[in-house]
Amino acid sequence: MSKSKSSKSEDEYFAKEDAEKKKRLEQQIKEETAEKRREELKEICYLKCPKCAGDLNEILFRGVKIDKCADCNGVWLDDGELTKLAGSEEGNIVRDFLGMFKK
Ligand SMILES: [Zn+2]
Repeated sequence: MSKSKSSKSEDEYFAKEDAEKKKRLEQQIKEETAEKRREELKEICYLKCPKCAGDLNEILFRGVKIDKCADCNGVWLDDGELTKLAGSEEGNIVRDFLGMFKK
């Protein structure tokens, strides 16, 4: 009977399955950990200055809400806010500058 041969290939099959399962699990844990870390950071960093971790205050400037740091006076703009501030006139230097970063 060729039982030993078939059980050997079965062992190999299951060993391979196990290794792949383990690899998938490790990858999943890695992704979940990264996601969890990101969520934690997001909570800590919310309305904090990315430069000095000071408190950000929302101020209204020319009709656009911008975030200003109470400590270092840095100003942070959300997507689209700089475009709004730049206005729409042709040849505007800020608009030309923004055009460089268009995805
Ligand atoms: Zn700051």
